[in-house]
Amino acid sequence: MGLRTPQQYIDSLKDDRTVFFRGERVDDVTTHPIIKKAVHHAALDYEMAEDPATRDLSVVTEDGDSYSRYFKIPASTEDLLLRSKLIETATALGKTLVVLVKEIGSDAMFALHRVSRQIDQKYETDYLQRVEAFYRHVRDNDLTLSVAQTDVKGDRSLGPTAQNDPDYYTRIVERRPDGIVVRGAKIHTSCTTNTNELIVLPTRAMAEGDKDYAVAFAIPVNTPGVKLIASPYGASPKEEYDAPLSAERKMMETITIFDDVFVPWDRVFMAGEHDFAGAMALGFVEYHRFTAVSYKLPLVDALVGSALLMADLNGISRAAHVRDKLVWLVSYAETLRALTEMAAIRGQADQHGIFAPDALTTNMAKWHFAHHYHEALQHVQDIAGGMLVTGPGVEDFANPETGDLLRKYLGGRAGVDGEVRTRAMNMVSDLTTGEFGGYHAVLAIHAEGSLEAEKLMIARAYDSRRALAYAKQIAGID
Ligand SMILES: Cc1cc2nc3c(=O)[nH]c(=O)nc-3n(C[C@H](O)[C@H](O)[C@H](O)COP(=O)(O)OP(=O)(O)OC[C@H]3O[C@@H](n4cnc5c(N)ncnc54)[C@H](O)[C@@H]3O)c2cc1C
Repeated sequence: MGLRTPQQYIDSLKDDRTVFFRGERVDDVTTHPIIKKAVHHAALDYEMAEDPATRDLSVVTEDGDSYSRYFKIPASTEDLLLRSKLIETATALGKTLVVLVKEIGSDAMFALHRVSRQIDQKYETDYLQRVEAFYRHVRDNDLTLSVAQTDVKGDRSLGPTAQNDPDYYTRIVERRPDGIVVRGAKIHTSCTTNTNELIVLPTRAMAEGDKDYAVAFAIPVNTPGVKLIASPYGASPKEEYDAPLSAERKMMETITIFDDVFVPWDRVFMAGEHDFAGAMALGFVEYHRFTAVSYKLPLVDALVGSALLMADLNGISRAAHVRDKLVWLVSYAETLRALTEMAAIRGQADQHGIFAPDALTTNMAKWHFAHHYHEALQHVQDIAGGMLVTGPGVEDFANPETGDLLRKYLGGRAGVDGEVRTRAMNMVSDLTTGEFGGYHAVLAIHAEGSLEAEKLMIARAYDSRRALAYAKQIAGID
């Protein structure tokens, strides 16, 4: 067992994986001009484990062995709260961008532990043993992971077998004595360009006719037949002054194609047990939405801080409408924080001691965040002003002919010169507009499931008996 250094993590990515960027095959992701930004961002995870300021939070030591806290299987509320704190701290250091190279994979491994045991009980399979071996491999070698759950899905109103194309959901196309061969494509897979292992999970509940689509497994990212088409979204070059958050911070997403990929049996965790596909999909989501609300906390703090900062620099802190908006933003952010903590407090262990956050509270937290996100942006942009998208460039301050003019004319309240105000404006612009702001906005609505998926879970998880009984009681109905 051993923790890796940031450099060991980076070196591990030079493995001839098949990545395409804007139509060209990428030789080495660690030196590619765009993808290396994502590598650098992800290395933060390993830097935190070495930094004395964050080591205790990042690393767990048990019986003399140390491993990344992300891989600690939760057994209590305290474990979930520490996990949440770690995710929040890493995201804050990542300038509002989640790191995600261990968070999402550990979410999937926790769910795999819980559900594989249930499959084994019904079908006398040995999936749990395989999951445990894979988990030890990842934890003991301090690996990074992606999770490919979201299929391309074709016609959203149809199940896998009813689609025009049989490959719109990932499926088993061959069963061999030594393993299975899978075909299909997953989409929006985060960090695949720069992780070591890829966990594949079903994206929805399956009917009996969908058996071949009920498949879960894990493979190294460089497995033959895995083709990663990296998204160029957010790839335009940026200066630190103009885009202080996104100039150095980036995540990559890929369309992840399984072009008849062989998976050995010891890495297969579900192969045809269609009646557990829904439990597997939701089991992962239960943990992953808790990860989501944890990593949204620095983002909502940044929105509150941006509104406070711009109100001050613009000299409008005391205006009634601004105070109203600030109170709204504080309530928005702190409701999310309170619900996130409450999801851990209300969590429960299964009969084997694996602890999970409370599904109702987690989904309420995620829905609250996503449903109100654009309103939060509206308030921040309103307070900041139009210079969010019309300000000068860093070169204009450097030019002796224009620099002093800009410092004079773009100033705010007394004592605030134009260069300081523009720097603050650029941070808020990066956060709420353009490529990075747009990425955050779509991430808010869609990542970890759309708004409707969260509402569905709230309706499912809420036990209506107490409220209904009370309404009947006060109405005098038996
Ligand atoms: C930046 C980013 C990173 C992501 N990272 C990952 C990742 O690492 N791994 C991963 O697996 N996924 C990832 N996701 C995927 C994310 O979970 C999905 O975007 C989300 O589940 C929505 O799926 P979709 O994009 O296909 O949209 P759709 O499912 O097509 O949703 C579009 C609309 O259609 C509606 N809809 C869909 N199906 C139906 C239906 N049957 N009936 C009625 N309405 C329907 C939805 O409610 C929504 O309103 C990521 C997404 C983003 C944006």
